[in-house]
Amino acid sequence: MQSLTLLETRLVDHGQSLTHARKLIFLLFTNQPYISVDQVLSLIGTNVNRATIYRTIALFEGLDILSRLYVTRDTYLLSLREPFASHHHVFLCTHCFEVTTFSEPAFLPDALSAASKKIEGSVYSHELVLRGVCARCHTGAQTKT
Ligand SMILES: [Zn+2]
Ligand SMILES: [Zn+2]
Repeated sequence: MQSLTLLETRLVDHGQSLTHARKLIFLLFTNQPYISVDQVLSLIGTNVNRATIYRTIALFEGLDILSRLYVTRDTYLLSLREPFASHHHVFLCTHCFEVTTFSEPAFLPDALSAASKKIEGSVYSHELVLRGVCARCHTGAQTKT
């Protein structure tokens, strides 16, 4: 429940409050880290009206609570930003758009900080998306041919 405390702090800092709908939508992302707006709508069902869901998503994006991962030029999945979600990276299947999260190997932050030293200015975050075809889609593609 620590993440809910973080959420409430972020909201209150911006003159907002933690409503029941906001809590429900936020908690959805703690169980299903990468989902589309349509999935949010169907998972929340009729508990919250659609306009509230759209407004909450827009608010969360505006307050850097949610961010978008574009899977095609105009389709995206939403996920919690740090510190609402722990630091991780993703593998995106460009065939079925399923996202798998993974923790980075220990040498990666070291390698990135070595690379950052060559950049003038300061680096404060990084993102990494591996794209490919998941095992299921790979097998499916092979049996078809
Ligand atoms: Zn796939
Ligand atoms: Zn990382």
